[in-house]
Amino acid sequence: MIKVFEDFDITLVGHYQSVLESNDIATFMKNQFGTSGAGELPFIEVIPQLWVLNEADAERAKALIRELYEPESREPPREWTCPDCGTEQEPAFTHCWKCSAARPGQGVVVNDSHP
Ligand SMILES: [Zn+2]
Repeated sequence: MIKVFEDFDITLVGHYQSVLESNDIATFMKNQFGTSGAGELPFIEVIPQLWVLNEADAERAKALIRELYEPESREPPREWTCPDCGTEQEPAFTHCWKCSAARPGQGVVVNDSHP
């Protein structure tokens, strides 16, 4: 057996298990019930783990999990350009360092000044 994933979030591990099963990959979950009365055990003993039974499926299983794990939860920070003055901005900035214009698409409430 090959371990392909582990996480303390049992629902996440269970979700991946069902995805792999639906792709005809035989799986086994370890420590499924490990969180009950686990107080004295080291973490490594109780973290839910997802294993594939056939070594030949391991790479495919890992690829499937990578696809599921990364896209939505970890969107890479992107650089942006100030719409007002055209200055390049660092990904972390929420406002233009030059003219203080708000970054577009951030839901920032801008002062609505009606002349
Ligand atoms: Zn600007």
